[in-house]
Amino acid sequence: MKTITAQKSFEEILEVLERTERVYIVGCGTCATMCQTGGEAQVLQMKERLEQAGKIVTGWMVIPTACDDLTKEALGEQAEGINQAQGILVMACAFGVQTVVSWTDKPVCPALNTLFIGKEDVPYQFSEVCIQCGECILGWTAGICPVTSCTKGLLNGPCGGTKKGGKCEIDKEKDCAWVLIYQRLESQDRLDLMRKYKRPKDYRVVKRPGRIKLSEDLLKRSF
Ligand code: SF4
Ligand code: SF4
Repeated sequence: MKTITAQKSFEEILEVLERTERVYIVGCGTCATMCQTGGEAQVLQMKERLEQAGKIVTGWMVIPTACDDLTKEALGEQAEGINQAQGILVMACAFGVQTVVSWTDKPVCPALNTLFIGKEDVPYQFSEVCIQCGECILGWTAGICPVTSCTKGLLNGPCGGTKKGGKCEIDKEKDCAWVLIYQRLESQDRLDLMRKYKRPKDYRVVKRPGRIKLSEDLLKRSF
């Protein structure tokens, strides 16, 4: 599972850095490198563009995994360049950005938009697998998530508009999620589950901000 990101427009980055003349750039060696949004090549490209725009880049690094606790040590090792900067531009997902925020008093700006948690289907092609809805129904849908796979997010499908060849009526390039669910249930001899009614999701299951503390009982329990 990876966090899929897209780079913000350079205009937006410049706007957020309006009052920051000296910038330190942080990239991420994991998800953002895979998405080609915050790896070494993109960090160096950003450095060049910022310098062309009149900024002073006091240093840069690509942290192996920006959302990891080791980020604290990495920032410490680069203290000289960071201290010279008025702000830090982070080319990582929002988790990486917030990790950097927790270990510095400097203003921190994201260079990326965090799109979704997904997987790499084939090189450089990503798809969303789960929005962490808090009420997983994969047991009824042959392991295919309709919340993310169906264009309308229908829990009880199909919608009735499925095109010839099993394509989605909204996105004709994409297979209808409910056709895939049907086919998989059929191959498992569980087609009766297509008639199982899935009640509307209760999004209050996960209160924001999502937090959980394991009880003492649970921690003591042996599995
Ligand atoms: S139903 Fe889909 S979105 Fe909800 S938890 Fe399961 S996989 Fe994730
Ligand atoms: S055609 Fe299939 S995937 Fe598309 S919206 Fe309807 S049920 Fe969902």
